[in-house]
Amino acid sequence: MLVFILNAGSSSLKYQLMNPVSKEVLAVGLCERIGIDGVLKHEFGDDAKLKLEVAMPTHKEAIELVLKTLCEGEGKVIDSINDIDAIGHRAVHGGEEFASSVMVSPKVIETMKKLIPLAPLHNPANIMGMEICQELIPGKPNVAVFDTAFHQTMPDYAYMYALPYDQYTKHGIRKYGFHGTSHYFVSNEAQGMLDKKHNTRVIVCHLGNGSSVSAVLNGKCIDTSMGLTPVQGLMMGTRAGDVGAGALSYMMSQENLTIDGALDVMNKKSGILGISGKSSDLREVLEGMQAGDERCKLAVEMVAYNIKKYVGAYVAALDGVDALCFTGGIGENSALIREIVCAGLDGMGLNIDPTKNNKRSQEPRDIATNSSTARIFVIPTNEEYVIANDTYKIVTGLEK
Ligand code: AMP
Repeated sequence: MLVFILNAGSSSLKYQLMNPVSKEVLAVGLCERIGIDGVLKHEFGDDAKLKLEVAMPTHKEAIELVLKTLCEGEGKVIDSINDIDAIGHRAVHGGEEFASSVMVSPKVIETMKKLIPLAPLHNPANIMGMEICQELIPGKPNVAVFDTAFHQTMPDYAYMYALPYDQYTKHGIRKYGFHGTSHYFVSNEAQGMLDKKHNTRVIVCHLGNGSSVSAVLNGKCIDTSMGLTPVQGLMMGTRAGDVGAGALSYMMSQENLTIDGALDVMNKKSGILGISGKSSDLREVLEGMQAGDERCKLAVEMVAYNIKKYVGAYVAALDGVDALCFTGGIGENSALIREIVCAGLDGMGLNIDPTKNNKRSQEPRDIATNSSTARIFVIPTNEEYVIANDTYKIVTGLEK
């Protein structure tokens, strides 16, 4: 079984070709600058790489080029598109309509279109990817895997905003949460790594360019830090995270900003970039801190403090913790952020071992001291595997 995994964004798309049973990845790549000029980066075989600079005026041309690259020439990994058995799509916003992955049908696409106001940048690109694949890879099943689905188990008292109730009934204004495939994958791995099999209390910190935390009780999400949109919660690469409505409206009046202008600031100019004034990339900001830059130092301290506050809140929500998990580019690679987040959490049963924390590895691992009551795991995430596996289960009828 071969699944073509597609993550279509507004001006870029990422793809993988994976066998979900053996977990073998045949190719992985991305198209950037769609509609501007076009770059395809394709990785295949044993570390072979291909870079093509080809005009991609639309997503259709980009996907055509990806399929051609998979089937022909230097980057070839399959004989024809008929070797693709199914397509798994990353879909961003499933609202309250999708609590699990689904086979793409005209009705599913119609429902996703109704959800566009909740994700005006992402859902149209996802829908476009589905429609193009139906056209270019005819007769093969398409499955949608939603970023919000895993969080649909949150209780109402966790997902409601304390706005007038009819804002929820009229407009669906509530917390939805994102990065669900990653939170699902990591919490599920953590459950497998724990000796305890019942009443498991897991906290997942997905820390990358976008970051979120979730509280997972017995495999079900009970709270998460992102909200109606991904701008809420932790401070991120360029997103502000939690900012009071009063501060926001005051900034708008002082800077004479429209709603779109303010959202642009909140989504693209804030977070690590906004505080450091240097970069949205934590590695560069850590370098700046080491070179004595005070704003870089402040950005790093704020990132870690924000995560720590959510960890504390979720220990309370879960009535304790069995495993704290770190994943994503920052969570998997930054021993310093993990160290600062965990410092002083011994009272919550979280005791980090500095030697284990500083050891580099690509494998899931426990970095807590032997005497720590709760485990501290570093678990590389694998959202593509979740998409491929959900697609496989739905297509083969293992999951209805
Ligand atoms: P992601 O969105 O999951 O790819 O994560 C991207 C983020 O991970 C960027 O802020 C990177 O700077 C950060 N990152 C990657 N490697 C490291 C590292 N070794 N130390 C600190 N941050 C890292």
